[in-house]
Amino acid sequence: MHIHNFNAGPAILPECVYSNLAYAVNNYGNTGLSLLEISHRSAEFHGILLEAELLLRELLSIPPDFSVIFLAGGASQHFAQIPMNFMKALHHAAYLDTGVWASNAIREARCFGNVEVVASGKKDNYSLIPRHFHIPDNCSYFHYVANNTIYGTELQEVPKTEVPVFCDMSSNILSTTFDITKFSLIYASAQKNIGPAGASIVIVKNTVLDLVNSSVPNIFNYKVLANCKSLFNTPPVLSIYGMLLTLRWVKEEGGVAEFQKRSIEKSSLLYNEIERNDLFRSRVKSAEQRSRINVTFEMIDPNLEDAFLHYASERGIVGIKQYQNYPGFRASLYNALPLESVQVLASTMHEFEVKFKKRGNSASVRYK
Ligand SMILES: *Cc1c(COP(=O)(O)O)cnc(C)c1O
Repeated sequence: MHIHNFNAGPAILPECVYSNLAYAVNNYGNTGLSLLEISHRSAEFHGILLEAELLLRELLSIPPDFSVIFLAGGASQHFAQIPMNFMKALHHAAYLDTGVWASNAIREARCFGNVEVVASGKKDNYSLIPRHFHIPDNCSYFHYVANNTIYGTELQEVPKTEVPVFCDMSSNILSTTFDITKFSLIYASAQKNIGPAGASIVIVKNTVLDLVNSSVPNIFNYKVLANCKSLFNTPPVLSIYGMLLTLRWVKEEGGVAEFQKRSIEKSSLLYNEIERNDLFRSRVKSAEQRSRINVTFEMIDPNLEDAFLHYASERGIVGIKQYQNYPGFRASLYNALPLESVQVLASTMHEFEVKFKKRGNSASVRYK
């Protein structure tokens, strides 16, 4: 049976990434050595890092006055590392609270100074992103999460402010075009849309690196890490090679604009089915705040959830259960997920509805 993998992260990667990684683990570039047994300071690994950086610069149109750092650890590490590096100047930073990851970032920042939460979607159970908020001028930076992987909301516009904008793009980087010059720092975990778990990337403006608190230990210091060109210490070589393979694939397939088009196509197909189907509803009411990457939805009658999950799993659909013991579904539509998988999910929802109504259950369907 063909598997349709909607996992949220670690998540589906292109087929060529699996095969090329497997090959490299046995014999990297026909050197007769495994990628796992060569020095991170070898010419081979140097080539990997250089090409990965060049490709990322090309795909995201990163100007020369920004540094690109590949490093170990996921986005959660940057929740702490960002305030550690940048909060010193004013001991004050502004955060937008739009979900689990945003509030985790806020909690870590509070270890280093005053956090002003400019707005929070918490009282609405994060089913929307607050629209009206004021970012004070007297803070070191403004932080937000572009795509809320768990709640399924996405902010398409960059909030306007005079202070440096820092953004967690873990789940939508490479799926959406954006103007990088509106940001001072962007970071992302690898395992959503760029490669295997274990690494992350940071893209940061050089003038912002000059503001790094000099008492931050070297291993956490973004300026030191950038100056060492991602080789301050041994980086996660396998993850970085996996990122390079993914970046090559993104370019071959037509680049970020092409994946934005595909994300719109895939997510529209699924949202349309959710709207049409009497058994399901979207978790996110406002159409323009719905994520194009993590589509969250639930059954109007939660008692049907297990039956639908079983029905879907018989058709090869995996990874749509939001969390154990947490109601609802989430279908993650990362770049490597083919349109065909979304078509299978949508038609499975449709067939389930037809089957349900045939059993004479239509009276029990409550309307949305
Ligand atoms: C997954 C995710 C994180 C956490 O990533 P880790 O690699 O587990 O630290 C943070 N932010 C967003 C938006 C995510 O999707």
